[in-house]
Amino acid sequence: MHIDPSACCCRSWDLHPNLLKVIAIDEQLRVIYEDNVHFDKDLPEFKTQGGVYIHSDRLTVTSPVLMWVKGCFSVSDSPIWMDSSTASQCRALEKALGGAQHLANVTGSRAYERFTGNQIAKIYSQNPEVYKQTERISLVSSFAASLFLGAYAPIDYSDGSGMNLLQIWEKAWSKPCLDACAPGLEERLGCPVPSHSVLGPISPYYSQRYGFSPDCKIVAFTGDNPASLAGMRLQEGDIAISLGTSDTLFLWIQEPTPALEGHILCNPVDSQTYMALLCFKNGSLMRERIRDECASGSWDEFSKALSSTVAGNSGNLGFYFDVMEITPEAVGIHRFNRDNQKVPRFPKEVEIRALIEGQFMAKRIHAEKLGYKVLPRTRILATGGASHNKKILQVLSDVFNAPVFTIDTANSACLGSAYRAIHGLVAERNVSLADVVKLAPEPRLAVTPTPGAEEVSNWGVLRDLLLTPWCCFS
Ligand code: ADP
Repeated sequence: MHIDPSACCCRSWDLHPNLLKVIAIDEQLRVIYEDNVHFDKDLPEFKTQGGVYIHSDRLTVTSPVLMWVKGCFSVSDSPIWMDSSTASQCRALEKALGGAQHLANVTGSRAYERFTGNQIAKIYSQNPEVYKQTERISLVSSFAASLFLGAYAPIDYSDGSGMNLLQIWEKAWSKPCLDACAPGLEERLGCPVPSHSVLGPISPYYSQRYGFSPDCKIVAFTGDNPASLAGMRLQEGDIAISLGTSDTLFLWIQEPTPALEGHILCNPVDSQTYMALLCFKNGSLMRERIRDECASGSWDEFSKALSSTVAGNSGNLGFYFDVMEITPEAVGIHRFNRDNQKVPRFPKEVEIRALIEGQFMAKRIHAEKLGYKVLPRTRILATGGASHNKKILQVLSDVFNAPVFTIDTANSACLGSAYRAIHGLVAERNVSLADVVKLAPEPRLAVTPTPGAEEVSNWGVLRDLLLTPWCCFS
């Protein structure tokens, strides 16, 4: 329903059992708009008869309450991060911005199918009427904040930088990106705000119904990855590596250089800096495969193989991608001996070290491509299943030439949001998140680099090979 708000003086809603009527009148009491929703016909998914359910006792008659608010959403099914149906919109956005790298330079990422701008473009192109009727577009995070605020909540910089729409440097919507996705998008998105912003007091509904203090403040909501960065208490220069089913890197970066791989997002706990995210699909599943083939399925034996070989693997190196990798886009297993010749196989313990060194060097190279610099103060915070394996962490420490700490990250996104809430209340006074979370348990030091590991000449060869276009290896 669209009513011109400037012409409208008053609207009334008349809720009948079988329909909802709306009438708007202007200052001269003229009816300027009239419409209605017939529940049975317009919202058949509720399966009402005459807008109601008559129960089997024939005495009880009810209406589904969610039906009464269903008109609230112009689109009843929200696309989520797993959606990959917007390839053509991604291509169009990259073209409009002068190429994938240029789009990444503006928004921090090349076009991704799940990103909101491309999802909006798809809805606009397939159903322009629905788009026209939409007053406001929220991310799930800002929508959830809206419920507590009792008003539209703005999108925060961090989650907003995962939309292919925000200029991450100026922290304002990019006009060329908005225009490439749909018309009139800026007013539908509202103004983005720093992630630590206090949006306002909680809606009176929550105080009255659930006893929240009326002084309770709502701090901007954000996405799970930025919230995890806060939960892991990353500090300037830190790098967090989650070694789970897939491997993920979170980086705190001062001066990012957006690339075609990975994402640069505004930092949720420090508006002056950035965070980067890199995801590698061939994580633990690849390690498990090599463990099964070369270590009789035992992590202990796998660890012994790492102990019995040396950093740099005596010149042998390899890349192991069971499934098409995201960073770099490559597939297959590629092994090179000390003479830089491609070989079909390695002895078992050499294979195991080649896998782990290759995996970690790929992470270092791609982190550096995004502007990350390993500095003397660099801390690596390791989490996930494989972070329980000290021998694997030793290789990580040697490849990055930095100490590795382990952290407990159970509930890191949720806990991070609680930290952010406290931070939001004091951020105006220039208090950092690090000050706020001083009392939280410190990361535990697991390993430090093996003396001399940074001198290993094989790292240079590994780097060069990883930076070689992957078509050369197939
Ligand atoms: P998810 O990403 O599903 O949350 P986890 O972080 O729990 O996964 O990690 C699970 C993975 O950890 C398993 O796939 C397993 O391969 C790996 N893992 C568990 N123990 C070890 C170990 N001692 N050494 C190496 N990898 C391990």
